[in-house]
Amino acid sequence: MLAQPLDVLSRVFGYTAFRGQQADIIDHLIAGGDSLVLMPTGGGKSLCYQIPALCRDGTAVVVSPLIALMQDQVEALRQLGVRAAALNSTVPFPEAIRIEEALRAGELDLIYVAPERLLTEGFLKLLGACRLALFAIDEAHCVSQWGHDFRPEYLQLAMLHERFPTVPRIALTATADGPTRAEIVERLRLGEGRVFVAGFDRPNIRYRVVARASARQQLLDFIRRDHAGDAGIVYCLTRAKVEETADWLSQQGLTALPYHAGLAAEVRARHQMRFIKEEGVIVVATIAFGMGIDKPDVRFVAHLDLPKSLEAYYQETGRAGRDGLPAEAFMVYGAGDAAKLRQLIEGSDAPDRQKRIEHQKLDALLGFCETTDCRRQVLLRYFGEQHGPCGNCDVCLEPVASFDGTEAAQKALSAVYRTGQRFGMGHVIDVLLGGDTERIRNLGHDRLSTYGIGAELSRRTWQSVFRQLVAMGLLVSDTAGHGGLSLGADCRAVLKGERRIKLRHDPADDRRAKSRTAGARVAGAVSFVEPGDAALFQALRARRRALAQAQGVPPYVIFHDTTLAEIVRHKPRDLEGFARISGVGEAKLARYGLDFVAVVVENS
Ligand code: ADP
Ligand code: ZN
Repeated sequence: MLAQPLDVLSRVFGYTAFRGQQADIIDHLIAGGDSLVLMPTGGGKSLCYQIPALCRDGTAVVVSPLIALMQDQVEALRQLGVRAAALNSTVPFPEAIRIEEALRAGELDLIYVAPERLLTEGFLKLLGACRLALFAIDEAHCVSQWGHDFRPEYLQLAMLHERFPTVPRIALTATADGPTRAEIVERLRLGEGRVFVAGFDRPNIRYRVVARASARQQLLDFIRRDHAGDAGIVYCLTRAKVEETADWLSQQGLTALPYHAGLAAEVRARHQMRFIKEEGVIVVATIAFGMGIDKPDVRFVAHLDLPKSLEAYYQETGRAGRDGLPAEAFMVYGAGDAAKLRQLIEGSDAPDRQKRIEHQKLDALLGFCETTDCRRQVLLRYFGEQHGPCGNCDVCLEPVASFDGTEAAQKALSAVYRTGQRFGMGHVIDVLLGGDTERIRNLGHDRLSTYGIGAELSRRTWQSVFRQLVAMGLLVSDTAGHGGLSLGADCRAVLKGERRIKLRHDPADDRRAKSRTAGARVAGAVSFVEPGDAALFQALRARRRALAQAQGVPPYVIFHDTTLAEIVRHKPRDLEGFARISGVGEAKLARYGLDFVAVVVENS
């Protein structure tokens, strides 16, 4: 008799209930149906094929392009007592032979395989001689030719259907807008199957965007204040800035490692390995880092430069908090950043149509940065979902005042015009404020009609006004030269009073003071537990670390932080109590139960 899904969920994985659509997806697959599953990162995609793999007869074949992730999943499954193996270019030949023999003998529940390996005639023949439970095609968006993760081998995966027509297939991805979704269905010939779409919200991620002052220091304050000892990723645009930032954070006493395409492959591999296997490591990276990393306890993702688009931003920040515990996305944003990106787009030799699209994507991103609405609403609206205010972003938590900035905008634009469209923000603001500087006297700018007309706003507020005008494209900043400002194409309507402008009140100065005292913050991983339990939590982590090191595996394949937090909450003093903890299945109870119960007894 075959195992029941709920039974497997509890015995093997130690969980009590399915989440969202997991149960439907699993039933559909067990019954032999094809499907496409769209679920955000951390939504629980892996269980959707791992449980059917254990419930159906034969071996499940999982296609994945990401070698590190494959290794991780196999390790996690072995810890659960599941018979899993991976075949890819890093597996030594003799071991590959052994794995293929085990597969032939029907001794594997799951086999993870890279697409190029799967598609060899030899391997397909071998599969033909095996009993197969299902095919799972992970990262299915790699089949999309327009996406940034396109893998040509993925196109050939359609043949699995022709060659093994009775084996059900499940394709999974976290990144698919409407067109990509249609493309996946067509190219993988999933037309007869079902599509399961989960909402894209990641409620445990707190979004926070701050006005750029001194970005490095702002980052350091953020880490020290809210994420001491946490693992995180910091994204920068250039290799040089990655190196600089990692160095500087290290000098401040943090464990920060650089990662970019210019580093030798073994250095990159070493840094990635430390990020995965140690706790509290920060990786400073260009976007080359993160794809295919399944680390569940990344507590923050910070952007010191603007990402390329909201899609990229959502994917990058989505690497935080896969375990469902509180996590943060932090971004430092200044108007100059937008101008720099605009110039990059203009300077490229892409066709005009593509430039237009890139400008639009940038506008959407800037709209997110400068919004006076809930940030999650803006993000999810972009992905076609309507939500109410989230209560877990900086705008919701510390509402920003907005004001009718039409008059301020008119003053700023005319001051730029009257001074000849060649000076930077600093001088133009001096003029507006009626300053008495040498430059103003020498140029005679104290005789302009705009001299001193802006005294009602502070310098800081003017800076924010200019930043927002640049972000809106009403002012253009010459980043190649000295940052001189000139009028943007759409500013006529504003100057003529035909268009009203709503501006964000820049809360930068009062925010800092406020957030120091704000209670509801994420304050390092320890904050998952009551303050009185911090010592027990740390002792559990130390035991986990020792067990992981002894086996050479990442700590989170032993237990996730969520499970440690559960142990702290229930403080089981015997194996019976320990067995009831979420995340403790039969295999882990037997392997680690006594270890962790002993820690509880010693520390409480
Ligand atoms: P994805 O692949 O969609 O990013 P994962 O499959 O890695 O997500 O799952 C994310 C986390 O949620 C993992 O820690 C997993 O163990 C946990 N999880 C998944 N399903 C359940 C469930 N039904 N109950 C409890 N935890 C779950
Ligand atoms: Zn919000």
